[in-house]
Amino acid sequence: MEPGTSHGHTAAGHRKLPRSLKELTPTKAFNPRTFFREMVWKALITRRTGEHQQPKFPKLDHGQLALTWIGHASFLVQFNDLNALIDPNFANWLFFLKRLRRSGLKISDLPPIDLVLLTHAHFDHFHKPSLRKLPHPKLGVMPWGMAPLAKGLGFSRIIELKWWESFSHGDWKVTLTPCKHWGARTITDKHRGYGGFVLEHQGRTVYHAGDSAYFEGFKEIGSRLAPEIALLPIGAYYPESFRKVHMGPDEAVKVFREVKAKWFVPMHYGTFKLSFEEMDEPPRWLRDLARRDQLTPHLRIMQEGVAEVF
Ligand SMILES: [Zn+2]
Ligand SMILES: [Zn+2]
Repeated sequence: MEPGTSHGHTAAGHRKLPRSLKELTPTKAFNPRTFFREMVWKALITRRTGEHQQPKFPKLDHGQLALTWIGHASFLVQFNDLNALIDPNFANWLFFLKRLRRSGLKISDLPPIDLVLLTHAHFDHFHKPSLRKLPHPKLGVMPWGMAPLAKGLGFSRIIELKWWESFSHGDWKVTLTPCKHWGARTITDKHRGYGGFVLEHQGRTVYHAGDSAYFEGFKEIGSRLAPEIALLPIGAYYPESFRKVHMGPDEAVKVFREVKAKWFVPMHYGTFKLSFEEMDEPPRWLRDLARRDQLTPHLRIMQEGVAEVF
C-alpha cells in the first residue's frame, strides 16, 4: 500500500512513524481529516471479526497443493515436502490501522516454514514482527534492494531477484514477476524493488501477483509462466486515483483471463481498511462479475485459516 510510509527500527531501536497521515496514502487528493475518518476512525469503531482456526493441514500426496489464506495478502502454500509463506502478516495493528478480521491462523500454529516469499516492502506485506516470529530456519526470496531490511529477522539465507529472474532449490523454482506498483517503504528508499511470484513445484504452478494496478505485463506473465492458480488483489481501488497502484475486481477479472489461470483466488481485501470502498464490496462485486462472465466455477473465495487442496 501507501507511499512514504516509514516503519521498522532505526539504529537506536526506535520505531519510526509516518510523518503525517497523508504519507500513508497513494494520493494527495484528499485531506488528512477525511483520511482519518475513513481509514482510522471507521476501523476503530468496527468490531474485529473472524476467528483463528484450529490448524488442520491436509495430508498431501505428491502433486497436491494446499493453500491457506491467512488474511490480506498472506498465504501458506503447502506441498508434501515444502511449506512456503507469502507476505506473512499476522498483525492486529499496522500503526493506527486496526486489523478488522483475525488472522486465519496463529503464528504459533504454523508448520515449519521452508520458504518465505516477500513481494515488496510495504508494511502490509513485509511485517517485521511477524517475520521475526516465524519458525526457523527459513529461506527468504524477495525483489532487489530488500535484503538489508530482512537482515536480523531470522532468515538463514536471503535471495534477491530482479523481474523474470528465478531461484531454484531442490525441485522447486520461484520467479519474480513484474507488476505496476512501487517499492519504497519510506520517502528515501525508492531503490527497492517490487513484484509478484510464480512458484513451480511438482508440476503445479501458483502465482501471487503482489500489489499491482492493471498493466499490459500480465499477458506476458501468462504466456511465459502459465500459472494454474492465480492469487490476485481485488481491494484498495477507490477513490479512482488508487487505481494507479491497485486494482479492483473488474480489472482483476481481466487479469485472470490474461494470465489464463484455472483458479482465481482473490486477496488484499477485508482485513485492513486501506481505501474508501466499503470493506465487503470487493468480494461481492467479484461474485457478480464472475456470474456475469460465467467464471464462477473458477472462483475460489477462501475463508481465512481454512486449507483448501488444489
Ligand atoms: Zn498492499
Ligand atoms: Zn503495496
